[in-house]
Amino acid sequence: MSKQVEIKVPDIGDFTDIPVIEVLVAVGDEVSEEQSLVTLESDKATMELPSPVAGVIEELHVESGSLVSEGSVIAVARTAQELEPAAENAAGAGESESGESESADVAEPRTSEFQTREPETEAGKESPPPDAQNAETYDFDLVVLGAGPGGYTAAFRAADLGLRVALVERYASLGGVCLNVGCIPSKTLLHTAQVIDQAAAIERHGVHFGEPQIDLDKLRAFKDGVVGKLAGGLKGLAKQRKVEVVQGVAAFEGAHVVSVQSEDGQRSLSFAKAIIAVGSQSVELPGMPWGDYRLMDSTAALELEEIPERLLVVGGGIIGLEMACVYEALGSKVTVVELTPKLMPGTDPDLVKPLQRRIAKRYEAIHLATRVKQIDIADDALVAHFEGEHSGKADFDRVLVAVGRSPNGGRIKAEAAGVRVSERGFISVDAAMRTSVPHIFAIGDVVGEPMLAHKATHEGRVAAEVCAGEKSAFDARVIPSVAYTDPEIAWVGVTEAEACEKGMEYGVGKFPWAASGRALGNDRSEGFTKLLFDPKTDRLIGAGITGLNAGDLISECALAIEMGAEASDIALTIHPHPTLSESVGMAAEAYEGTITDLYMPKKG
Ligand code: FAD
Ligand code: NAD
Repeated sequence: MSKQVEIKVPDIGDFTDIPVIEVLVAVGDEVSEEQSLVTLESDKATMELPSPVAGVIEELHVESGSLVSEGSVIAVARTAQELEPAAENAAGAGESESGESESADVAEPRTSEFQTREPETEAGKESPPPDAQNAETYDFDLVVLGAGPGGYTAAFRAADLGLRVALVERYASLGGVCLNVGCIPSKTLLHTAQVIDQAAAIERHGVHFGEPQIDLDKLRAFKDGVVGKLAGGLKGLAKQRKVEVVQGVAAFEGAHVVSVQSEDGQRSLSFAKAIIAVGSQSVELPGMPWGDYRLMDSTAALELEEIPERLLVVGGGIIGLEMACVYEALGSKVTVVELTPKLMPGTDPDLVKPLQRRIAKRYEAIHLATRVKQIDIADDALVAHFEGEHSGKADFDRVLVAVGRSPNGGRIKAEAAGVRVSERGFISVDAAMRTSVPHIFAIGDVVGEPMLAHKATHEGRVAAEVCAGEKSAFDARVIPSVAYTDPEIAWVGVTEAEACEKGMEYGVGKFPWAASGRALGNDRSEGFTKLLFDPKTDRLIGAGITGLNAGDLISECALAIEMGAEASDIALTIHPHPTLSESVGMAAEAYEGTITDLYMPKKG
C-alpha cells in the first residue's frame, strides 16, 4: 500500500525563518529513512534534516535560499512502507489509503557547528569508499605520506574508521617536526627557561635561589626523554590500530602507487587513496656558510650542543623569539635581527609590546628593519654583516637562522600522480582536503599557512573521514596562534590590524592585567586581554592575549567565536576567581560598559 507523506520541519528550538542553504535531494529521488534532505543554517548552527520515511520524493517545496520554520513543508514523499514510529508520533500523522496525503515531521535534526555540506570540488562528489571496489586491487585502502601530527592523526582516524592503512615516514621516529624537532622539544626547553627566570625574579619577594648551575647533558636528556616517550606512544598507537608503518622516503610512481626507498631497498605500495602530509622544512638563507656547525637552523638549535656566549638570531618571528628566550635564560647574550620594522610581523603590535619591552632590557640588541647581508667564518667567531636601519658587523659564537619554513610538496614526485604543486611547493586543496586528483588528499604545512600543528591535526581528521566515505570538511571558523615566548602572545580570529586594513567595523573590550589580582600576585601584570566584537551583532570576532599562560587562555575565545557567542554570553559566564581567565569575562564586560573592576566613565 503506497502512501503520500508530507515531510515538515520539526520543532528545532527557538528558531524561525531559517535559510535553507542546500537541498540534497531532487524530485524522483529514492530516499532512505534518515537520509538528509536539506541543510539549514541558523546563525548558531548548521543542521541537516533527515527524512522520517523511506520512499520517493514526489514534490519539493523548498529551494536553496527558502526560509523555513517549524511546520514548513519541505517535501512530499511516496512511501510503500508502513510509517515508522517516529513519523506516526508526529503531529497530524496517521494511516491513510493510497493517494491520500499525511504529514510527518522530519526526524531529530543532526546539528553541529562543524557539520558541513558535501565539499564541492572540481573533481565532483566523493567516490565510493575503497573497500567497495578496491579491497582486492590495492595493497592498502589508504597510504599516508609523512608521520607528523597531520599524517599520524589521519592514519589513526582512517584505521579507526575501518580502512587498511600504511603510514610512510622517512625517519625511524614518528611525530614529524612537531614532536621531534619543533613544538615539543621547544616547549620543554621554554619551560626550563621560565623556571630559571622565575627563580631569579622571586628575589624581589625576598627568596634567593642563587645562580643556576646548568647541566646541559641532563637538560638535553630530559628533553630527549619527553620526545622519546611520546614517539614511543605513537608507535604503540599505530600497532594497536594495525596501521602498517613503513620507514623510507616516499615518492609517487603513478596515480595509485608510491615507491618507498629505504636502506633495505625499494618497495612499491599501491593504494586506493593517499594523503600527502610531508610537512615543511627550514628556509636556508642563501650565501651563508651552511657547512659550519656554528650556523644553525631550529633543529640544530634544539640539539643544545652548547650555550654560546654570543648568539645571533636571524628572524624575529615565532621560532627566533622562542629560541632566543631559551638561550637567553640559559646564559647567552642574544642579538635579534629582523628584516621588517616590527617583531613578529602580522601580530597586533600592542600584543607584541610587552614582550618587546621585556626583551629589550635583557637582550644584547634588537635590530629591526635590518638584514644580515653576509656571514664570514673566522677562527673564533662567525662575523655577521648587517645592512638596513642597523649597519656594520659583529662577531658571534653561534647564529640561528629562523626566517620561515618552506613546504615539501615539490619533493615527492607529485606530478607522477597528476597532483598539482605550486612553484613554492604548496599543494592546494578544497574543503575536503582533496588535491587536484580526487582520490589524493593533502594536509598540514604542505597545504599552506598557518603552519601549525593543531591545524595539521584537524585537517588530518577531515581527510581521513572523507577517505572513509564520511561527510566531513574543514570549516572551522578560526585557528588560534600562540607564541610561547615570555610573556606568551596568543591571538585568534580577526586581528585589529586586519580589521583596520579591511575597513571592518569593530568594537574593543580590553582588560589590563594590572587590575588582575592573580597577575599581580604572580608579579607579572604587564599583560592584557583584548576582545574584538562586531558592533552590529555584539558577537566576538577576534581576541588577543599577552601575558603568562596566554596560550591556554585563548581557547575560550576560540570556542566563543565558533559558538557565535556575544559579549553578554562571555560576560555572564562565571569565571573562577582569582584566575587569569577572569580577564576574558572582564574584557567582555569592558566592551559592554558593565565592568566594576575598572572605572570606565560613561561615553557621551
Ligand atoms: P611535519 O610535522 O613536518 O611532518 C611531516 C613528516 O613527513 C616528517 O616526519 C617528515 O620526515 C616526513 N616526510 C617528508 N617527506 C617525506 C617523504 N618523501 N617520505 C616519507 N616521509 C616524508 N606548531 C604549533 O602549532 N605549535 C608550536 O608550538 C610549534 N612550535 C614549533 C617549533 C619549531 C622549532 C618548529 C620548527 C615548528 C613548530 N611548529 C609549531 C610548527 C609545527 O611543527 C608544524 O606546523 C607541524 O609539525 C606540521 O605538521 P605536518 O604533519 O604538516 O608536517
Ligand atoms: P616566521 O615567518 O614566523 O618568522 C620569520 C621572520 O624572519 C619574519 O619575521 C621575517 O620578516 C624574518 N626574516 C625573513 N628573512 C629575513 C632576513 N633575511 N633577515 C632577517 N629577518 C628575516 O617563521 P619562523 O619563525 O621560522 O617559523 C616558521 C613557522 O613555524 C611559522 O609559520 C610558524 O607558524 C611555525 N611555528 C609556530 C610556533 C608556534 O605556534 N608557537 C613556533 C615555532 C614555529
